[in-house]
Amino acid sequence: MSSERRYDPKAVEPKWQAVWERERTWEVSNDEGGGAQSYYVAEMLPYPSGEPHMGHLKNYAVGDAVAHFQRRIGRRVLHPIGYDAFGLPAENHAIKSGEHPRDSTAQSIAAFHREFRSWGVSFDWSRELATHEPTYYRWTQWIFLKLYERGLAYRAEAAVNWCPKDATVLANEQVIDGRCERCGTPVEARQLEQWFFRITDYADRLLDDLETVEWPQHVVAMQRNWIGRSEGAEVTFTSPELGVDYPVFTTRPDTLFGATFFVMAPEHPDVMRLAEGTEHEEEVRAYVNHALTESHEDRGDAEREKTGVPLGRTVVNPVNGERITMWVADYVLMEYGTGAIMAVPGHDQRDFEFATKFGLPIRRVIEGGEELPYTGDGPLVNSDPRFDGIPNREALERIVDWLDDQGRGHRSINYRLRDWLLSRQRYWGCPIPIVHCDRCGLVPVPEEQLPVMLPEIRDYTPKGRSPLAAAEEWLNVACPSCGGAARRETDTMDTFVDSSWYFLRYCDARNHDAAWDPAVLARWMPVHQYIGGVEHAILHLMYARFFVKALTDMGLLDVQEPFLRLFTQGMITRDGAKMSKSKGNVISPVGYVERYGADTARCYILFIGPPDQDADWSDEGVEGVHRFLARLWRLGTDISEQRDAPGPALGPLDPPEGDDLELMRKAHWAIDKVTNDMAGRFAFNTAIAAVMELVNECYRRRDAVAPATLRFATATAASLIFPFAPHCGAEVYEALTGERVWEQPWPDADPALLERDTVELVVQVNGKLRDRVQAPASASREELETLARTPRLAAHVDGRELVKVVVVPGRLVNFVVR
Ligand SMILES: [Zn+2]
Ligand SMILES: [Zn+2]
Repeated sequence: MSSERRYDPKAVEPKWQAVWERERTWEVSNDEGGGAQSYYVAEMLPYPSGEPHMGHLKNYAVGDAVAHFQRRIGRRVLHPIGYDAFGLPAENHAIKSGEHPRDSTAQSIAAFHREFRSWGVSFDWSRELATHEPTYYRWTQWIFLKLYERGLAYRAEAAVNWCPKDATVLANEQVIDGRCERCGTPVEARQLEQWFFRITDYADRLLDDLETVEWPQHVVAMQRNWIGRSEGAEVTFTSPELGVDYPVFTTRPDTLFGATFFVMAPEHPDVMRLAEGTEHEEEVRAYVNHALTESHEDRGDAEREKTGVPLGRTVVNPVNGERITMWVADYVLMEYGTGAIMAVPGHDQRDFEFATKFGLPIRRVIEGGEELPYTGDGPLVNSDPRFDGIPNREALERIVDWLDDQGRGHRSINYRLRDWLLSRQRYWGCPIPIVHCDRCGLVPVPEEQLPVMLPEIRDYTPKGRSPLAAAEEWLNVACPSCGGAARRETDTMDTFVDSSWYFLRYCDARNHDAAWDPAVLARWMPVHQYIGGVEHAILHLMYARFFVKALTDMGLLDVQEPFLRLFTQGMITRDGAKMSKSKGNVISPVGYVERYGADTARCYILFIGPPDQDADWSDEGVEGVHRFLARLWRLGTDISEQRDAPGPALGPLDPPEGDDLELMRKAHWAIDKVTNDMAGRFAFNTAIAAVMELVNECYRRRDAVAPATLRFATATAASLIFPFAPHCGAEVYEALTGERVWEQPWPDADPALLERDTVELVVQVNGKLRDRVQAPASASREELETLARTPRLAAHVDGRELVKVVVVPGRLVNFVVR
């Protein structure tokens, strides 16, 4: 009768969303927060552009499952949401449409907000923020000033990547294959005054403290590699023609006597100056221009054929006074060391390939190996009588000491990490709170005058200078220091600045007098569980870590690392391909939520595979998950209507046996499985599969068990599915118990019901079933084999040669015979 009724998420989901909204169920107050009971879970905040996509659904489905689980094991959970609202897409849209970025951003935020609510995500909405709001960026500017005061923000001329189409500076990471990440235009090099954060001051701590966080190994490795710490020496070579010193960083000063040529990166500012007036000038110019359009990845590829051009100049090797030729070659990167290297072809693979190709001298200076290049250790040869015969590692120290004495070199540590270039010549970003005064120089805007509001302008089109320069009334101000005529800084900040501290603001989002109250932060920080895409493994995470360390050093905070645990979710693909607008294979969550409900969409996206792996979307899979939730709902509805047999929620009164015992065991097995999957590696897919098994078992035994047993098992399924399908879980649980599932503690598995005394063992001969025996659950492999040698087995193996016995404990024993 009642099973004819349909599971209708359109009725169930809004009902519970209204309850949570009305009662502000997921809000936590700062007064009660803190101590061991607090738990902070945050997903990386979304960039509001258009509407949320499947990646967002997965991100928040993961985060919400964690939040619900932690609440029910007794934690006070902070689970906030915000929007990373400044940035290029809104501005580019404004250029095309004339629509103010604030308006298109507001529409997007409204769409995200609406969808997040329709997914039933348990955010603390009272802390919702957007980084483009003056109430937020006021404090972004305040942090900038704090960093400036401490010498961690500075202005310097630098060669920058310039996108001629977007007319803006790009960070190195925004240059893909020599082209602008956004528009694909080949990137040019330009010298400009820019703002930087001195993140390199923190290189060692950023590296060392990776030991203290629980992050995926590949993310830690990417961060280490990005910091790129190596120990060695800086050695000065001199150009006699120009009288200029060229320091190089080398990890192998022991091979200095084998340096037979010298190579500069194409970006090295002196390359053209050196080539000028030589016969190679034109060739060098053409080579440099071409090299700049190539990606660093390609250039760093060891397999690539080496290319280069001579500069027509020489430098002097400080250890032996030899004049060696200078070259420009794209395998040398400006970002590494000093942008120039001494080439030691006898003991370095790349230098060897280069020397071979261009017929340059190759000299052995370390004994060992049959052939050159030899990169191992050994005594020095062909170097200098003072060093020859000495093991190279020892000679290395002596050579550096000698260079140091001569003032020609010193010990040095090199990092691949560069300072963070934060200036953007764009409109839609946080204004930099600095005034330029001809008399006083750079003058910080006084704190009480913050925020420096983003001015209104009519034309967003980039013109090679910041669009803010067009806002004349805004631009011209009195100098805060001398009162004379001065101009505001017109660059805006990289949006990575906004997202480097939002997790701090979440803790105290409604504080009007300060960015945060340190006492409040102490209650919540660090973030216990951070969740986001692996594409942020380097920049965002590195920048946020730098901010937290710098703020802690200033006494504004008291944590060394922002994110204790990190989870990086895999992508959702379609037919094996990444979803993208250009491929036309994008599927958005809206349609699925509309058709199947949010619970199905959320459950499915966690069910398709381990959430840290990529997974392929399948419509059949969605149907399957929907059927499962419908079955659970129907079972709950059926049972709740059997008012003639009301039973206690928490289980039968008599010790169960038979079918009752089996169903109870299944329920406790599911509790145990889901608990372990939630607490450990976030194996949500197997957790959901366990609840599916439990529901199947409920159907299988529903007519054979006591009503109370069925009620208990079904309520358990509802309770366990709640973190993944909160509406359906709440609905079924309430129908069966009259209680709100989120107010109930997470269920405990009864160890007595997890232990099985005996298991049924399948006895096979050559993979064919021949017998079954009951065996103690704790039996050893040997005991299982002995038990499996039953009379029936004998008929199949006697007289044949036993090749081997395969024992799968708890399952089977297979006798392989010939
Ligand atoms: Zn561009
Ligand atoms: Zn002044």
